[in-house]
Amino acid sequence: MKSILLIGLGRFGKHCAMKLNELHHEVLAIDIDENRVNEVLPYVTNAQIGDSTNEQFIASLGVRNFDVCIVAIGDKFQSSLETTSLLKDYGAKLVVARANRDVHAKFLLRNGADNVVYPEKQMASWAAVRFSADNIFDYIQITRDYSIYETKVPKSWIGKTIVDLRVRQMHKINILAVKYEGRVEPLPGPDHVFRDDETILVMGGNKDLEKFLRV
Ligand code: ATP
Repeated sequence: MKSILLIGLGRFGKHCAMKLNELHHEVLAIDIDENRVNEVLPYVTNAQIGDSTNEQFIASLGVRNFDVCIVAIGDKFQSSLETTSLLKDYGAKLVVARANRDVHAKFLLRNGADNVVYPEKQMASWAAVRFSADNIFDYIQITRDYSIYETKVPKSWIGKTIVDLRVRQMHKINILAVKYEGRVEPLPGPDHVFRDDETILVMGGNKDLEKFLRV
């Protein structure tokens, strides 16, 4: 369980709060707007109304005690930047800030953010990959050159094992897991026999994955 400071409770912040609650983390949620604070009360450990650009307010939170500080203010870039910078000044260990534009991401990183999330850009990229192919169910870009895809078992693989197919040698990809009826079998052994109703999670270089997905 981690302790998390979540600042900004718009749609993005609220979804973060709900997911963090599901993952059983301890969350202190902050917003300048009382209604927004009230809306997330069922999902968080504690909540306060306050202006995160106010230095005294940030000083009162003991930000160095949190494992992660998330700045989920999106549109008010000035506030997001000031908050990020204040959190770092007061000893925050890990500050993750939300960006709405490339230039915002750049300035947030320069002013104390350890990490930036850029929902529109990241989700646009995910949606483009996910919905432009027939058999891709999920996709994670690990670096610029490597990704993980969840995809259907190719028809020609059904009834065969990983060893039979010489997956690594033939396709230069690794099978990380097999998914069946929502259950995951991580790192399937060489004797795993592929079935029609499974999906596989494969990792590899983007070029090799693109070739494999055309199989
Ligand atoms: P979203 O896109 O997540 O729905 P939004 O468009 O409603 O958010 P944003 O301007 O992105 O609004 O701000 C997100 C949240 O951050 C809002 O609930 C807003 O009240 C809060 N917020 C903005 N400035 C501050 C601040 N200085 N201190 C604390 N909370 C703030």
